[in-house]
Amino acid sequence: MQDGDRALGAFLDQAPLAAVMAAAARMRDLGHGTRISYSRKVFIPLTRLCRDVCAYCTFAHPPRDGEPAFLSPDAVLAIARAGAAAGCNEALFTLGDKPELRYRAARDALDCLGHASTIGYLAAMAELVLKETGLLPHVNPGVMTGDEIALLRAVSVSQGIMLESTAERLCAPGGPHHGSPDKHPAARLETIRQAGMHAVPFTTGILIGIGETRAERLAALLALRDLHARHGHIQEIIVQNFRAKPGTRMAATREPTREDHLWTVAAARLVFGPGMNIQAPPNLAPNHLALLVGAGINDWGGVSPVTPDHVNPEAPWPAIAALEAATNAAGKELVARLPVYPAFAREAARWLDPGLVPAVRCAMDSDAYARCEAWAPGLALPVPGLARRTGVATTATDDILAKVETGAALAEAEIVHLFETRGEAAARVCAAADRMRADVAGETVTYVVNRNINYTNVCGYRCRFCAFSKGRGHAHLRGAAYDLDRDEIVRRAREAWARGATEVCMQGGIHPDYTGRTYLAITEAVKTAVPDIHIHAFSPLEVMQGARTLGLPVRDFLRELRAAGLGSLPGTAAEILDDEVRAVLCPDKLSTEEWLAVVRAAHGLGIRTTATILYGHLEAPLHWARHLLRLRALQAETGGFTEFVPLPFVHMEAPVYLKGGARRGPTFREAVLMHAVARIALHPLIASIQTSWVKMGRDGAAAALAAGANDLGGTLMNESISRAAGTAHGQELPPAEMERLAAAHGRPVRQRTTLYADPPAARRAASFAADALDPVIETPFRRHVAAR
Ligand code: SF4
Repeated sequence: MQDGDRALGAFLDQAPLAAVMAAAARMRDLGHGTRISYSRKVFIPLTRLCRDVCAYCTFAHPPRDGEPAFLSPDAVLAIARAGAAAGCNEALFTLGDKPELRYRAARDALDCLGHASTIGYLAAMAELVLKETGLLPHVNPGVMTGDEIALLRAVSVSQGIMLESTAERLCAPGGPHHGSPDKHPAARLETIRQAGMHAVPFTTGILIGIGETRAERLAALLALRDLHARHGHIQEIIVQNFRAKPGTRMAATREPTREDHLWTVAAARLVFGPGMNIQAPPNLAPNHLALLVGAGINDWGGVSPVTPDHVNPEAPWPAIAALEAATNAAGKELVARLPVYPAFAREAARWLDPGLVPAVRCAMDSDAYARCEAWAPGLALPVPGLARRTGVATTATDDILAKVETGAALAEAEIVHLFETRGEAAARVCAAADRMRADVAGETVTYVVNRNINYTNVCGYRCRFCAFSKGRGHAHLRGAAYDLDRDEIVRRAREAWARGATEVCMQGGIHPDYTGRTYLAITEAVKTAVPDIHIHAFSPLEVMQGARTLGLPVRDFLRELRAAGLGSLPGTAAEILDDEVRAVLCPDKLSTEEWLAVVRAAHGLGIRTTATILYGHLEAPLHWARHLLRLRALQAETGGFTEFVPLPFVHMEAPVYLKGGARRGPTFREAVLMHAVARIALHPLIASIQTSWVKMGRDGAAAALAAGANDLGGTLMNESISRAAGTAHGQELPPAEMERLAAAHGRPVRQRTTLYADPPAARRAASFAADALDPVIETPFRRHVAAR
């Protein structure tokens, strides 16, 4: 035992329980803040036959006439499907240990199922459940060899075995583990070690009250801590309290007292430190949930809305709403997690089989907790409730909000904190953003009548999120490659003007034959045909590309564009302004510094730009914070941004999602918070925060208007980039519908120009009297022989 362990042992021996619990709770708060997690699961008891005979167990029993030795694949799937329908994330396979070594019935049943061992059948069923339902398997099959662990690693996101105890005397005659070879501590420790060798996110813990002493509990916890120190793979320590069950050899044994339970939970926290997940099952101590929180837990384990706890059938799971209320009453927030904990899911390449990573990404949010909703940007689904006001204390959030009200800039960690808020804290962030919006932008909701013209979808770049672009050789993928004739571009601009537009927003792929001359020619053609329309065009990438092809400095090329009629630049191609993310998401695109340099040059010439963020794919809140801080710094320097436009990632057709490399876009909470936190972090430098109706949907846009947004963006007329990504919210939101959306929110509305002036009355009248659009002509891709 190390000196520190001896000192901890002395503290645990001598300090009053209240002091031990307080120390543990403080330590938990350092690592987990206000969050208490749980996993929404179904419990699949694959077999209740077991070669062990533990004296307290009612789960396992010998073969029974008329009862199949194993659940059939159909029975397994029926349970899993019920779980998926009830919104579960986890399929927990708990089963007896190697029953085929004890019972002929088990061997015969496995023969019929076509498997040589229970572990082999388990692997097949885990794979089936994942494939058919998307539930993430967690497996608890008992003692395993390294090969068995490796087999199961390919089909499960986490594995587990309770160490229970390191006291060998519990295996002696008369002890609870007598006759149970798999309960020998050395065998279980070796399984846990092997799991570490195979990089398996692993769940373990101790069972208290089966005859061990407090010193023996501490020894078991220290043994686990030492294994974790070597391999880093233990994701959770369960402190399970023995329950005396009628009909068992230990039916008359006294259960551990509440104090003993709390002491052990606190000891586990103090042994493992702030970061470890310490769990106590809520159904085994339903009368002292708040005390368990006070003793340092941060997790309730798996809770099922569908299946009973087959190991403790006398102890029903709490309803999740009741568990949430109890958690809130203890001053904490209940958060759903996956069976693989966030720290392990974030490091998927190290901890998960590559075949499982897409399913995990699909099921997680930006913090790697569970995604609990079907909604995603671009899908025509009802929006979830934003944030239930759970009554959780939010001192840290309130302190940050108080700081920003003084006009002070927030630090990176403070912005990350705001992005990670949930429940009551998230509601307060949105309310603060709404107040700041009223201060700097007033009550009026604005929008612009415009038309998007995406002149080509041919692109030589390989942005992994982009469903719009077509390589020259991939015309068959996601529709045909096109390259609009100049006449068609002009026709669309004229039609936009006739329909009341004050702006054309023009961007396209980086066609390998386009040069700076092409962009100049497009600008001149539109400006000549429709002199009064505002040309909002060319992403910083296109500007950089155009300048490079002409051998000009960016500043000189921007001057030429302005002389040709350019009014302002869209601040697209920003994605996430952090090279760590760009290296994976869009490795051949311009870098963060290059994007900032182009925009700085534009602002220096008096050319205003918007600013955007594309979020909800493979980045984390830390990257959002860095992005906002970079925009804030540039705005403080130049004042050139007109607005900030959050663009939630639409996953459906995005290559990076289809290849399993991205999440399903932001959750609704994240999407709304992006508007709110941007409002706060950019306050008061950027006065306009826009919400994208084409990605958020109308109800989502309305929620953003209540959380700091003041602008609905453009009517678009011909949106095609989000449509290519799979959004179902349409291509145009005409003025009357824009105004209905704002009015439904109880806010006045104003049509604006690109630069936020009032449009002439004739423009507004034309926009409300617009005819239907004529069909568009999409000129097929062709090579350009000369600069156009
Ligand atoms: S995002 Fe733009 S640059 Fe990237 S592939 Fe798509 S069209 Fe090309």
